[in-house]
Amino acid sequence: MDPQPIRRLQEALINRIAAGEIIHRPASALKELLENALDAQSTSIRVTLKDGGLKLLQIQDNGCGIRKADLGLLAERFATSKIARYEDLGRLRTYGFRGEALASVSHVAHLSVVTKVKGEGCAWKAHYLDGKLAPAKPGLTADPKPCAGNDGTTITVEDLFYNTPTRLSALRSSSEEYARILDVITRYAVHNPSVSFVCKKSGSPSPDLSTPSNSTTQQAIRLLYGANVARDLLSLSTSYPPPPPQDASLGKRKRDDNNKPVSDSAQNVDEEEDGLDKGEVEMDVDSASNENTKPKKARESDDEQWSAEAFFTSANYHAKKMVFLLFINHRLVESPRLKRALENVYANILPKGTFPFIYLSISLPPHLVDPNVHPTKREVHFLHEEKLTERVCDKVLEVLVGSAGGGRRVSGV
Ligand code: ADP
Ligand code: MG
Repeated sequence: MDPQPIRRLQEALINRIAAGEIIHRPASALKELLENALDAQSTSIRVTLKDGGLKLLQIQDNGCGIRKADLGLLAERFATSKIARYEDLGRLRTYGFRGEALASVSHVAHLSVVTKVKGEGCAWKAHYLDGKLAPAKPGLTADPKPCAGNDGTTITVEDLFYNTPTRLSALRSSSEEYARILDVITRYAVHNPSVSFVCKKSGSPSPDLSTPSNSTTQQAIRLLYGANVARDLLSLSTSYPPPPPQDASLGKRKRDDNNKPVSDSAQNVDEEEDGLDKGEVEMDVDSASNENTKPKKARESDDEQWSAEAFFTSANYHAKKMVFLLFINHRLVESPRLKRALENVYANILPKGTFPFIYLSISLPPHLVDPNVHPTKREVHFLHEEKLTERVCDKVLEVLVGSAGGGRRVSGV
């Protein structure tokens, strides 16, 4: 074959291709928008959908809002309020950091925003097309318009993939897309029990998913995955490395929020590691850059350092399919390695062909995690993955075996 000339792609085409890598389907758009709402410190997130999110995907939050002055840049690629320099990636505390989500949406859908910063006199409404402010209708200007609105932000995405027909036709059915969206919201609702989530179909009088704010993880699991799962739930909270035993001051810093595992088993697991609880680990993890407060062992050997919190069903529960919710630094991710390893832990405990429910939340110092390996951030890479997997599985097995006599369940559900 003769070589073809190399040509520069047109910018609009480049943008559309790039957008397609991030926004695969309504659920991936929704995930980005949910994460933005959580980054904005929202305590209430309401999602409304039409045609599984393809016709309409709207998400209303009560977060910090967007300043009117920033609306011009909102949908521009690589424009973000979350990092300013490369080093910021090493101390990332937000889901977002690349400024690509809204830009991507604006290249494959009609995007509009209503937002109000608390204390401002009014809300502002703006429309976007291909990364830029655009008029809502022909004849109007593209400038944001004042309007009535609550504190927070409502993002409306309409006609997703209207300009990428192949992508649109690859999606099988709006009911499947709807189910995927519900699944993403359900997972985030378990991980963020202090936030109220609502999801409904447009025009439907009652929501398909509704969680209260100020709930606990266990309550959220009961509400969203059912009483059968909640009844047989065990928990653990553990960390690596164990804290130096001589540091008594840390032991007093027990976090008292109701999102902490409360089972005897969790306490037992922790006691074997000198009484460290998640709050304390987080303090160490958060201050990982500060040599003085870094746990001694981590300084001396390698820097393997993490904490994990898990809720998982006992041997009394078995389902046809494994439900595995994995969060790494609060990000919903997949890890085939961890999943397989946990499956193996249960293989000898459950009847053949049956599976557990597992929610696992792992926190690592941000500088050990690279969330930037996958366009949708679905996979993250982190150091010590193998050792962490082994240690977490050992702990889960320990609690499972310990619970076999009964009476060591999560209480208060
Ligand atoms: P990123 O989240 O990586 O910064 P996005 O394209 O998702 O990129 O969002 C761009 C910017 O828009 C964010 O940095 C944030 O300042 C603002 N933003 C987006 N959604 C919201 C929201 N729901 N509430 C407040 N600000 C938002
Ligand atoms: Mg974002």
